[in-house]
Order: sequence, then structure tokens, then C-alpha cells
Amino acid sequence: MTGPTGPPRVPLITAPTRVQRITGVARRPIHLKRDDENSPVFGGCKTRALEFVLGAALAEGATAVLTAGTAGSNHVAATALHAAGLGLPVTALVLPQEPGPLVSRNLRLALGAGARLEPVPPGVSVHPDRRRHREAVEELRAGGARPFVIPFGGAAPVAGRAHALAGRELGEQARALALPEPLRVYLPAASTLTAAGIAAGLASTGLSFQVTAVDVVGDASVTGPGLVERAREAAAALGVARDQVRPEHLRHVDGYSDAPYGVPGAQAGRAADLLREAAGVEVDECYGAKAFARLLAEVDSDEPGTHLFWHTGNTRSALDVPSRPLPPELAHHDR
Ligand SMILES: *Cc1c(COP(=O)(O)O)cnc(C)c1O
Repeated sequence: MTGPTGPPRVPLITAPTRVQRITGVARRPIHLKRDDENSPVFGGCKTRALEFVLGAALAEGATAVLTAGTAGSNHVAATALHAAGLGLPVTALVLPQEPGPLVSRNLRLALGAGARLEPVPPGVSVHPDRRRHREAVEELRAGGARPFVIPFGGAAPVAGRAHALAGRELGEQARALALPEPLRVYLPAASTLTAAGIAAGLASTGLSFQVTAVDVVGDASVTGPGLVERAREAAAALGVARDQVRPEHLRHVDGYSDAPYGVPGAQAGRAADLLREAAGVEVDECYGAKAFARLLAEVDSDEPGTHLFWHTGNTRSALDVPSRPLPPELAHHDR
């Protein structure tokens, strides 16, 4: 469970994930980092983070996990599935979310894995310091469990290390494939922990690159500031000098905030259709579609280098999603 050096880690992913070259979407070829394929159970960026987060939980002797997210959260679904595989029951406080395919699917996957989902009314904080969260911890303890708390959306500091290792993995692949530099990486961003970590890992390889974090939450002013600092923290966690990460390595851009979180909007919907038709690759309406739309809007500019879309989502077969109805307290999340 514990690696030879560094923090505890449980093996959940198969890496390196492939880099795929696709044509027919834009004038230039586009590369995809297929991190959606990193696990047959539930793939994507959340699973990379969980190797360290659940590693810490096991190392501390936890017997249960408490976390929080929106109803359609990839983090909650990924935690439910992977923690179940380790024998850790999961309780998640879930905030309401606009109905959509990702929400329906993730709720069913989490429930199918045996997670207890507790809907929280809008406006109630699920921050670990707040009452609702503390009550949930007390309840688990009263039942005899030793709960491990994962913050909302999985944004635990150890996740930065997981994403930095992922960035280094891509840097090494780009070198091996002799991809023209700079490497221009686009990915969806909420807390920006994933984007920051990937930038840190790429910086450690000495490659020329730029990471574009495409905000999908709708208020880029919240998470934009501090992005370079977050990347420098992730670099330090890898033992890489902080100044290897330079401000020009990172960009935080608006992901069509005309459409709120979870709603694709016209451009993102069209981008998802193009990707499906050209390469048979699915992206979800909350994250991937918006980031891919941003890449499409910029790929045919005169900028030199390689344009790469980092697929942070999960594309586990829809056939494996239980088709049961949702329980009454969550049923309003089905359209
Ligand atoms: C959570 C998530 C992100 C964003 O992650 P942050 O580190 O919070 O910015 C991007 N894509 C997908 C599919 C996600 O589930």
C-alpha cells in the first residue's frame, strides 16, 4: 500500500494512459490524453486523486469515509465505487444539481456501489467545519465507525501530488512521441487542483508547455487567483523547485459561463457532438464538453505547438449503470 517513498497510496489506476491523435475535428490534428480510461471501475481525474486520499484513509485506520459533492459529482461516484472495493463504506452529503445525463448516471453508480447519499438543501454548507458536516461525523462515530473525511469534490491537498505525477507522465509521453512544443493542454477546472498539479508535473520535465484551465463553474474570479501558487505547491510536493513553475505555464479562462454549471450551452454541446462523430469519444456536459469547446475555438489559430485535450472524465460503459429508479429524496434529479 505504501510506496517506497512518499505518502501512502493504494493502486487504483492503470497508467500511463494513452495519448491519442485525432483528425477531422479541426484543420489541425488534436491529441487526447485518455485519462478517462485509467480505471475500468470508474476512471478520470478523481480516481488519480483517490489513490492518495484513500491511501491516507487506510493508513489512518479509518473504517468509513465521509465526503460531499453535488448530486452528479464524479468525486462522489468515484469514491463510492473505489472505497467499496477497499471495504470502506461511504456516506456523502450531496447538494442539489441541475438534472442531466451525468447526474442520473453518477447517482445510480454511487447508490449501486452501496453509498449512503444524504441530500442537503441548497444554501446549507457542507464544509468540514460546518454543522451539517460535523453532525454526519458524529453520527458515524456513534455507530462505531472511524470516519475519514474527504473535502467537497475531493479537493484534498494530497490530490495535488496525484495530478503532478499525471502531468509528469504526459510530459514523458510528449517527449517520447516528439510532439511539437509548446504542448498546449486544455482541461476543465473547478477547484483548479487538477490543472495546477498537471502543470507542476509538466514543469518537472522541462518541456515547453501551457496548461489552460477552463472554468466550468461559472465564476472564474473565485478560483483563478492563486493558480500559479497552487501549482508551485504541487511541484514542491514532488520535490521539484517551486520556480520551475512560471506564470506563463498557466492560464485560467472562462468556460462559457453563459451556461451555468452542469448545463452545456450551444458551443459545448456542438463540441461534444464533433468529438463523438470524429473519434467516438464521449465527454460529459458539465466538464469535458466546455473545455473541448474552448480548445476547438483556439486550435486553428496561428499558435505553434501541439493542442491536447486532457480527458478528465469517466467513460465507463453506460451498460453497467444500474437502471433502478432513484429513491424519492433524490428522484428530482432525473429529468
Ligand atoms: C472534478 C473534475 C474536474 C475539475 O477538477 P478540479 O481539480 O476541481 O479543478 C474536471 N473534470 C472532471 C470530469 C471532474 O470530475
